[in-house]
Amino acid sequence: MRQILNTWLALILFIPAVAFPAPATALRAGAAKTVITPDVHAAPVYMAGYGQNRAATGVHDDLYARCLALGVGNQTIVVCAVDLIGLFYDDVLKIRERVKDQAPEVTHLIVASTHDHEGPDTMGLWGPSPLQSGIDEKYMTWLRERISQTAVQAARAMEPARLTLGRDDHPLLAMLQSDSRPPYVKDPYLFVMHLTSIATGSTIADLINWSDHPETLGGKNTEITADYPRWLCQYVESHLGGTAIFVNGSIGGLLSSNGPSVALQDPQTGAVAADNTWRKAELFGNLIGELTERAVKGGEAVTLDSSTFAQATIFPPLHNDRFRIAGANGIFGGRKPLYTDGGLDPSVVEKDIPGMGKLKFATGEALKTEVSYFKFLSGSRPVMEIVTVPGEIYPELVNGGIARYPGADYPDAPFEPALREHLRSRYQFIFGLANDEIGYIIPKAEYDDQPPWLLNRPERWYGEVNSAGPDVAGVITTALVRLIDGE
Ligand SMILES: [Zn+2]
Repeated sequence: MRQILNTWLALILFIPAVAFPAPATALRAGAAKTVITPDVHAAPVYMAGYGQNRAATGVHDDLYARCLALGVGNQTIVVCAVDLIGLFYDDVLKIRERVKDQAPEVTHLIVASTHDHEGPDTMGLWGPSPLQSGIDEKYMTWLRERISQTAVQAARAMEPARLTLGRDDHPLLAMLQSDSRPPYVKDPYLFVMHLTSIATGSTIADLINWSDHPETLGGKNTEITADYPRWLCQYVESHLGGTAIFVNGSIGGLLSSNGPSVALQDPQTGAVAADNTWRKAELFGNLIGELTERAVKGGEAVTLDSSTFAQATIFPPLHNDRFRIAGANGIFGGRKPLYTDGGLDPSVVEKDIPGMGKLKFATGEALKTEVSYFKFLSGSRPVMEIVTVPGEIYPELVNGGIARYPGADYPDAPFEPALREHLRSRYQFIFGLANDEIGYIIPKAEYDDQPPWLLNRPERWYGEVNSAGPDVAGVITTALVRLIDGE
């Protein structure tokens, strides 16, 4: 099926919402976690997220794949969070195949990266030089197997469970998110699913959804770490029990745990913990852990009677030449193929790139990825929703507040719909970097790849360099709103 959505030129394949009824007591839950730390001594491990050629020298703390399986009626939804910068759709599809082979009862698998900036390069962009991939394929094969096994383990561990939902939306939470460009719209929501065993009363898992870049250790650190999510998960597991699973949210813009506005006082010294330190990562993770605990203690016990699921395959148009060069020159290791009119398009030409000479250049029109929407009902009341977003969405696309500034490339672009205006429950989980990482998802009216720069700033704003283009936000939000509204 082909559809052209006004000017978005996106081809979208929809799977319509399907309702799955379940008896009130039928909720089951299971969890599992597995270490996915690369061996930094076997082969060079290029660390992702800052400059190129940052080779790991050691391991400070292990990276994990952490999975929660939720059984509602005859549906089993597994959510895995991995301490990685990002995983492309191609790898997620392979993981799904492995899981399908081993556990056909798993009907939906979400793999979301925490966007850890202190782990291995799983996207290829941070290798020894701009034209050498940082991906270690041997590690990727092992990694996919580990994630699949963890998802299967979580599904097999499912037992009758109770669900408590927690939410913290105090405006002060925004102070924990530094924002590097206007408009200073944030996503100060913390949502928690707390699952306990009906048989024993003990905690099975806590899934925490919060928005902030895990980059507290900065670009000079060479020891592998999960960054603040390590302390967050450790805090939650030691205070509440079970397995903690952290899923990042709307982090475009970019919302960060670093920056002077995120001023955490170290109780031991009385001073503000400095950016790029282990101490700040620890204090930050512990604080989000305390807020999680508070949200669970003040949470609401719910029963789930049914769920609906809807998914769309989308083709966001690609305008970023950097991605075209990277793809054609093997930086992604064959991942991220391009599509034209919905069909695979491997076309490559030679192009003179200023400063780099003649290089291969991919010419396909669009990327292929997916968005999805899950709704859980108690009777006819929606009690919990999950939205999956395949990258780093700007918070104004989630909460509203897109702005027009002088210098924008598309000053008259219509505003994209804000997702939370369409969500209906009190517990609105937005899973960022879910099933893919296509980069920044920027409102078109704020898109600024050409001078003059927004607000006549002398230099360009950070963001567009890691975005697929100005039409990505429209394709993603339009597709999601259709799924949410059930059209
Ligand atoms: Zn980022």
